[in-house]
Amino acid sequence: MHEYGLTKGIVKIMLKAADEHQALRVTGARLVVGENTSIIPGSVQLYFDQIAKGTKAEGAVLSIRTVKAEMRCPLCETNFIRPRFSFECPACGTLGNPTQIGNEFYLESVELEDGKEEGGIP
Ligand SMILES: [Zn+2]
Repeated sequence: MHEYGLTKGIVKIMLKAADEHQALRVTGARLVVGENTSIIPGSVQLYFDQIAKGTKAEGAVLSIRTVKAEMRCPLCETNFIRPRFSFECPACGTLGNPTQIGNEFYLESVELEDGKEEGGIP
């Protein structure tokens, strides 16, 4: 269950972005999660709701993009999506080498509600 710590880090980045832009709140964020990380997107959302409660990120809509793990065939020199329970290239059957694709866990973008232009309070 490493989702809690990771989600905490994500919330921290979101709040930092909000501060840097003097935003009123964080309205949404796009998260990229690789298949190899074994992170369950559902638990990230769950932890996010808990951690973000009472902060500027509360209620932000989290959209999670999962990235399928890719292997590289040394023979065909192409990447292929790792088949379930197998590491073989679907084209030639050669054992593929792991790539970095599928290990992702990062914030792709943060949507902020800008407080500066509003300026309604005299
Ligand atoms: Zn191949």
